[in-house]
Amino acid sequence: MNRVDSFECDQCGACCVPFHVPVSEEDMRTEPRIAAVVQGRIPLPMRGTGGAYHYLANGTTEPCPFHENGGRCAIQETKPHACRIFEPGEYLCQWARGKAGLGPLHPMGSFSMFV
Ligand code: SF4
Ligand code: SF4
Repeated sequence: MNRVDSFECDQCGACCVPFHVPVSEEDMRTEPRIAAVVQGRIPLPMRGTGGAYHYLANGTTEPCPFHENGGRCAIQETKPHACRIFEPGEYLCQWARGKAGLGPLHPMGSFSMFV
């Protein structure tokens, strides 16, 4: 049996700045404001496939356009899949917080897991 920490996102917004945020056609259908942002942008090439994909932020020169002052997401209820599966407390969350000058996200508790 393992003990696993559980984390709750504190909406700091640190992960909305330094990462690539890819969006799908489904994301654009769900949230038309995403489609409005990516419209007119040249999609980035998908390595090794010949395809291309749209993105909200490229992780280098521009933060996500839905990242509001104070860290809140302007489309919290309809944010893209990539954002919905981002795990609070995981390495990338903690890394982004450090890069933003924030302290680590602490676990709310822990639970037992049989492996
Ligand atoms: S960096 Fe972590 S705690 Fe901050 S908003 Fe992203 S997932 Fe939540
Ligand atoms: S859509 Fe929202 S949660 Fe996703 S990167 Fe942009 S501001 Fe952050």
